[in-house]
Amino acid sequence: MNHSIPNINIHSHHPGADGDITITNTHQFFERIIDSKIYSIGLHPWYLNADTMSEDLSSLEKHAALKNVITIGECGLDKLCPTDWKLQKKAFIQQIEIAEKLKKPMIIHCVKAFNELIETKKELKVKTPMIVHGYNNNKHIAEQLLNNGFYFSFGKALLKADSNASALIGTLPKERIFLETDDADISITTIFDAAASHLQINEDKLKAIIYNNFKTVFQYERP
Ligand SMILES: [Zn+2]
Repeated sequence: MNHSIPNINIHSHHPGADGDITITNTHQFFERIIDSKIYSIGLHPWYLNADTMSEDLSSLEKHAALKNVITIGECGLDKLCPTDWKLQKKAFIQQIEIAEKLKKPMIIHCVKAFNELIETKKELKVKTPMIVHGYNNNKHIAEQLLNNGFYFSFGKALLKADSNASALIGTLPKERIFLETDDADISITTIFDAAASHLQINEDKLKAIIYNNFKTVFQYERP
């Protein structure tokens, strides 16, 4: 193991994803988790099924306790998907309860439901860190999320000079940011390059910041 600072990819669906440390996301077949990887597991609002939800949640709860499952998600609320809203809320709340019980952070998928997301966090007095992934929304929403203790993860939107993500990343406290490749078939180093240039810092410094955030929020040290 070398002593350079690892680059952290906190969210990937892609089997070929790189990153010195990558959190692989999976939304089903939790029994297929292997020991040599680290994971986020969760029931995504797009794929909820009312008929199997209680089984799916108990499988999630069982596998979420594994040591290499370091975070719950992605899960959350999505007003643009056809999944029944009540079902979405129910699934989300139950996953919050699992995350709180296991003291593991959450990776949040949120589309056009930021008020509801913030209200849910307040109502349930959620203590575990919540990271809104793939952030590319406006400054006003970012401020509300910031004031309510959320973290932000940025991905491929940083590669577009005129995106919200590119405009915002430099305005946020650095201890609240993460980077990811999500479903894109790109290297995490491309995302680090773009983020470093938006933040006007060198890449080693950025790697150190993100690694530090990772250790704090995920309470994980590489073996
Ligand atoms: Zn994703």
